Formats: sequence, C-alpha cells, structure tokens
Amino acid sequence: MIPMFQLSGEEEIDYGMLCIYIIVMFVIVLVLYILLYLYSRFGKKESRKHYCTYCGKFTSVESKCCHADIEELLFKKVCSRCKKDAVVVCKRCKKIIVD
Ligand SMILES: [Zn+2]
Ligand SMILES: [Zn+2]
Repeated sequence: MIPMFQLSGEEEIDYGMLCIYIIVMFVIVLVLYILLYLYSRFGKKESRKHYCTYCGKFTSVESKCCHADIEELLFKKVCSRCKKDAVVVCKRCKKIIVD
C-alpha cells in the first residue's frame, strides 16, 4: 500500500463530513428561503376580496385614482401606485365600496 492512498482515504472521510455539513447548511438555508417565500406570498394577500353590494358578491377591488391595487394598512387603504389615500372601487362595476 502506498502511504498516499491512506492519506487520501482520510481526506475522503473529511470531505464526507464537509459534504454533510454543506448539505445540512444548504437544507437549512433552503427551508428558510421557502418559509420566507411562503411568508411573502401570504403577506401579499393584502388585496383581499371585498363585498360589492352592486355585484352582490365578493370581488377584487382597485383604487379609483389609478385603477391600481389597494394596499391595506392597519386603518387606511392606500393606492399602490400613487401611495395616496385610495377610494376603493369594485373592479367589475367601478362603484365605490364602503366596508
Ligand atoms: Zn361591483
Ligand atoms: Zn393612485
């Protein structure tokens, strides 16, 4: 047996451990990334459906000023395009929705 072979054998074990560490780290990062992705997707469900009394059902809404999506903050609704206070209108019939 050549001593070099023994050495490379030991190195292989080290690389194996390193590989496991890298895989574990990668999986942790991947899981965090997926959680973040899901969280951001969940957070983006701000533009929830509103009940339109004219259409008689829950519909998507938009801002009256720019016909853009509504960003719903804690106590007020703002237009996602011009960032001003938005009047919420039904996307189908364009009538103002008050809720
Ligand atoms: Zn409507
Ligand atoms: Zn606007």
